[in-house]
Amino acid sequence: MIDSFHRPIDYLRLSVTDRCNLRCVYCMPRSSPRFTASEDVLTDDEIVELVSCLAELGISKIRITGGEPLVRPGLPDLVARIARVPGIVDLSLSTNGVLLSDHAQNLKNAGLKRVNISLDSLLSDRFQEIARFGSLADVMKGIDSALETGLEPVKLNVVVARGMNDDEIARFAHLTVDRPLHVRFIELMPMGDTGFFSPERRVPLNDMLAAAAPLEPLPQQRWPVGHGPARYYRRPGALGTLGFISALSCGFCSACNRVRLSADGTLIPCLDAVSGTDLRAPLRAGKGREHLKALAGDAILHKPESHDMNARLAASNTNPRFMCQIGG
Ligand code: SAM
Ligand code: SF4
Repeated sequence: MIDSFHRPIDYLRLSVTDRCNLRCVYCMPRSSPRFTASEDVLTDDEIVELVSCLAELGISKIRITGGEPLVRPGLPDLVARIARVPGIVDLSLSTNGVLLSDHAQNLKNAGLKRVNISLDSLLSDRFQEIARFGSLADVMKGIDSALETGLEPVKLNVVVARGMNDDEIARFAHLTVDRPLHVRFIELMPMGDTGFFSPERRVPLNDMLAAAAPLEPLPQQRWPVGHGPARYYRRPGALGTLGFISALSCGFCSACNRVRLSADGTLIPCLDAVSGTDLRAPLRAGKGREHLKALAGDAILHKPESHDMNARLAASNTNPRFMCQIGG
């Protein structure tokens, strides 16, 4: 459907849990945030019902996210059910990759098309400092399995922060040369009270581009599938590409096509929104599909024109929600 700013909304980021096996410094505080009680997390049946309502409103592309979606038991079965919902033509997953090698084949068999794997350092010790748990070796195994099983294009999401990993941009860029990996550098965003974000941590787009050089711009028809808000480049002769996602440096709200459904069933119209529309309560109260679709349709229609992150930056505050509660 079309929102009130004439944007076609056809993409849902579906969070299946707010829990995670890592505690990345920019996403969660060391002591875990208060996770959603398990009885408040949508069941598989409830997710499928809401996805099918949203598909009737025009959602055709879904990215499963979290928290870490692979810590939700039985994820491949849920993927298979979502893949069968009429109208859903693209199904992808965002993961930290730690558990991916165990599940890649089952996910592919279930109908998952492609994966984005988050990885912020290619140095083992630094990986541990950033993610606090897990191991770089397991993520690298996950990347290999994604390529082997054909969950392509395989994209690597790298959140870049000054003093955290900004000296690794060239090393990540080099990964794209002889393997079809699509590395996307993501500007740090002011989300959640992690104690990590500060304006000085941000690495502006131009600095990232300079560090990733040599680069040639890629014409849009050669960008990898599902390019979203990234701009793409390539190192000369490389098999993969390099993308840059900067919510703060370059506004991409005018082309935004997405809404988010959190693990507790809240439809969130914008990454930076502080509230959303509860779909779980009416669903559990037995309200019918038409009622749910009317609520969701209203939320989509009133999607805000743009995020407020630059104002947050100026006022030195962060969005009250952690990214793991929204799904990125
Ligand atoms: N656990 C999965 C993962 O890490 O890919 C999926 C959920 S995670 C919240 C989704 C994306 O949000 C990841 O790529 C992560 O790096 C990104 N992210 C989390 N906090 C962020 C922040 N403060 N600024 C920018 N990106 C962030
Ligand atoms: Fe977990 Fe992903 Fe957040 Fe890292 S970025 S703590 S892996 S949800």
